[in-house]
Amino acid sequence: MAKLYIVGIGSGKREDLTIRALECIDASKVIVGYTHYIKLIEDLLTGKEVYQTPMKSEVERCRAAIKYVREGLDTAIVSSGDPGLYGMAGLILELDSSIDIEVVPGISAAFLAAASLGAPLMHDFCTISLSDLLTPWEVIEKRLESAALGDFVIALYNPKSHSRVTNMERAIEIISKYRSPKTPVGIVKNARRDGEVKTITTLENINYDDIDMLTTVIIGNSNTFIKDGYIITPRGYNI
Ligand code: SAH
Repeated sequence: MAKLYIVGIGSGKREDLTIRALECIDASKVIVGYTHYIKLIEDLLTGKEVYQTPMKSEVERCRAAIKYVREGLDTAIVSSGDPGLYGMAGLILELDSSIDIEVVPGISAAFLAAASLGAPLMHDFCTISLSDLLTPWEVIEKRLESAALGDFVIALYNPKSHSRVTNMERAIEIISKYRSPKTPVGIVKNARRDGEVKTITTLENINYDDIDMLTTVIIGNSNTFIKDGYIITPRGYNI
């Protein structure tokens, strides 16, 4: 029986793909993915059938991947970062868990961004997606409140899109109720890709024009500080 690989491609740069991710792409006859991510790994796709769809057609994309496997073709469906975090792994398993599946982990955006910023995720952190396409905004607000109250470092995914321009401002308003205006904030667009843009600022000085849908925003906890252009969340060592 053919196999479906659900592959995380990290930033998409060759050096950020795991060896297993490369092996699975290599072993697949068909590659399925969102157009933008397919472009990032174009050079690995020579001679393969490529099924690409624009954003918001996730269900169609997953059904297509399952269909290829059922027709006997080894297939890889690719997600940016890790496929198990706001990626395709859950949806595939919900749709059809009876085929042969391997989930291949990848470096998620929070880690890609953190590496560019220094060490902001050194202590307990959480990810929150600001996309309210599939999650009611009230739920997102509740999680923002709880994470801020719990003093977690917070990595915000999907911070802005054309249809959701104010979610980010509202998120910062909520977090600011619990955190100092001087709290370090790292904004990384296209982390570890060509054209990466990184900004280190504070909660009170965020420039919302720096943020788009290819950006991850990391908000420090009450101990996070900035040193020589790095964001550091101390683990607590006595030095
Ligand atoms: N599965 C992915 C997340 C998909 S949701 C992962 O694990 O990273 C899409 C969001 O991820 C984007 O809106 C953006 O917030 C973030 N993202 C993905 N790749 C990124 C990159 N290279 N740099 C910055 N943010 C990124």
